[in-house]
Amino acid sequence: MSAVATPRSSAPAPGAVLPGSEAQTGAVAPVALEHEDLVLHRGSRSGHYVIVAVHSTALGPALGGARLWHYPATTDAVRDALRLARGMTFKAAAAGLALGGGKGVICGPARAPVGRERDDLLLDFGDLVESLGGRYITAEDVGMSPADLVVINERTEHVTGLPPERGGSGDPSPFTAVGVEASMRACARVRFGSPELAGRRVVIAGLGHVGAKLARRLVDHGAEVAASDIDPAKRRVAEELGARWIKPDEEIVAECDILAPCALGGAIDAANLPLLRCEIVCGCANNQLADESLAEALAARGILYAPDFVVNAGGLIHVYREIRGYSEEHARELVLGIERNLEEILRTAQKRAITPLNAARAVALERLQAAGAERPAAA
Ligand code: NAD
Repeated sequence: MSAVATPRSSAPAPGAVLPGSEAQTGAVAPVALEHEDLVLHRGSRSGHYVIVAVHSTALGPALGGARLWHYPATTDAVRDALRLARGMTFKAAAAGLALGGGKGVICGPARAPVGRERDDLLLDFGDLVESLGGRYITAEDVGMSPADLVVINERTEHVTGLPPERGGSGDPSPFTAVGVEASMRACARVRFGSPELAGRRVVIAGLGHVGAKLARRLVDHGAEVAASDIDPAKRRVAEELGARWIKPDEEIVAECDILAPCALGGAIDAANLPLLRCEIVCGCANNQLADESLAEALAARGILYAPDFVVNAGGLIHVYREIRGYSEEHARELVLGIERNLEEILRTAQKRAITPLNAARAVALERLQAAGAERPAAA
């Protein structure tokens, strides 16, 4: 049993829809088995399944967070692991990092596991990660906290994002916010001919860890920021930051230069897309498009969409620094590099008359092929 206290509030509510899951995004597609490893193990302590999917190690060890969640069926959890691991390969490759893509899933019970029960799940998962000998490095994801990583770390060294007092890099959200702001400059340069954000009208949907830090940075740089959140207590945060408050059901259709989805996935769907009144969509949320084909519809409407996995790579770069032993300064430089990286992707999209989403995938694929990926995944 773990000696570490397990407070951990983040837990699946029975029947809750997992952020970024197919149930949430509405996209239920077959997952091609192009992965290097898929390991499913019934934990000896917990009796529950723990899963690791390694999509690719062509560019480096496969890094990706682990989710602790209750799935109606184990096959749903496997599907999630496979799909998300593939996404991590593309995210790392598009960011130009020497990392592969992987994902962990811990199949929790219907109610939130606490105490010994939770520790058993985490320790079982730690054993599975350790058995892969460093091919997969785990991190925090939905339903997990840094304290959970400390428990996993009892069984394996292959953990990133530990709390600073345990030698980890701590909260990634300041880095993610820096990367989103850098991405907005790239978008502004491509769309308006100048990277200047002062005077630009930006709507931030979701004033959480990243959204609030982004709002602060943009206000400091002279942008006109409006923000929303489903949590009414965030209205005060908006006011303190100098941002105008918008009701959460109105933010997506608010008239602005840049719409920044910074809450959960699926913010833009077929129903609200025709109503958008922004020039650019650029935010930190994962899986912003309820369906990837909406990238075409956004382009058809003349809205510049910055692919989320390029924009929000600051969080990944943050843990990458932990693995490579980089200084905070070096990591910050890498995050600021998202501006140039994204601008190249947006220009490539213009040149080839393809969507920025397809251009980002093509860049990632080229990097994977250059690294000699045996069976690079099709974009
Ligand atoms: P968070 O949980 O701190 O904040 C999310 C905020 O969105 C909360 O305040 C919540 O109340 C609000 N919200 C939820 N649904 C909403 C809705 N429909 N409308 C308006 N507000 C809503 O999360 P975070 O760490 O800030 O991350 C935000 C998003 O960015 C997530 O999709 C996450 O996966 C992604 N992301 C975060 C990081 C990071 O460094 N934290 C890195 C990469 C990607």
